[in-house]
Amino acid sequence: MKVPVFAEGRIHRPEYATSIINDDLVDGVYMNRALICDPELPAKLSAEREKRIRPCLACNQGCQVRRNMGKPLMCILNPVAGVEARERIQATAEVKKKVLIVGGGPSGMEAARVAASRGHKVTLWEAGMELGGNAKLGLPEFARALAFWQNELVDRGVTVVTHKQASTDEILAETNLLHNHDSHHSSSHEHSVHRNLGDIVTLIENSDMAPQIKVKSVAVFQKLAYAEAKIHGTVPEKIHFHEVGAVDAIVDIVGAVTALHLLNIDKILVSPLPLGQGFVRCQHGVIPVPAPATLELLIGMKTFGSEHKGETVTPTGQLYYRP
Ligand code: SF4
Repeated sequence: MKVPVFAEGRIHRPEYATSIINDDLVDGVYMNRALICDPELPAKLSAEREKRIRPCLACNQGCQVRRNMGKPLMCILNPVAGVEARERIQATAEVKKKVLIVGGGPSGMEAARVAASRGHKVTLWEAGMELGGNAKLGLPEFARALAFWQNELVDRGVTVVTHKQASTDEILAETNLLHNHDSHHSSSHEHSVHRNLGDIVTLIENSDMAPQIKVKSVAVFQKLAYAEAKIHGTVPEKIHFHEVGAVDAIVDIVGAVTALHLLNIDKILVSPLPLGQGFVRCQHGVIPVPAPATLELLIGMKTFGSEHKGETVTPTGQLYYRP
């Protein structure tokens, strides 16, 4: 009777396993850690996709060492090891997204790999000259893990950009959180002109508009100046209007007041205002939506959150509804 003979012990590389079997030394091999690191190893090997095998380093850190400490099993290279049932990764995302990952160390590369394998369009930024992070400083075995991730990123179409320091503005622009809105922060404004409250009051009062229009228009700018002053911890007279001090914003405000006056409208009813989300770029830099001044001016008004990315309520826009 033939008794099958199996070999085990540090057979963590597929090439070891194949060579032992091909040499007819044994009938089979046990591969424990290698399968913790990549449970799909046998399937990938038979499909001649060796490069896609996540290479166990035989380091014992996530598996054996933790077991000796009575802790749940993990793997330093396979984040799903030990939690496969809970963290099962769907093959394809229902909604494909543009994903930006900052930092090309092992975690960043794995995140990029998973996101790309789910069908997302992934970009990976790394500040250094090459991917790998501190893993480049580790044991020579780590080079195999880094090679695995790099192959995966290439095969899955991840755009890798090295020498790329990530600033807030660049991240927001890359992920389209900044929008080229046509509201009061738009680049189409007369950005170079910064008027203060006194400048704008003088402009309005020197015009030949009806006195009621002048009074109401000045009142709108005063409310705005008080809100901005509160946000900036100063007095209204010291506020320099950026976007809303530009000619087009002045025309917007005075034009709206004029229209209300000419149409003899003395009361406006408005439903709760939808607040957008995300960030906008203005002359103060990148600010969250709703903008701080908008929030200040919205105190006492009914609002509701919406999924809309961008600025749905501007300081000047909602001022028309104020008593
Ligand atoms: S922790 Fe190390 S030895 Fe254990 S399975 Fe992962 S890579 Fe292999």
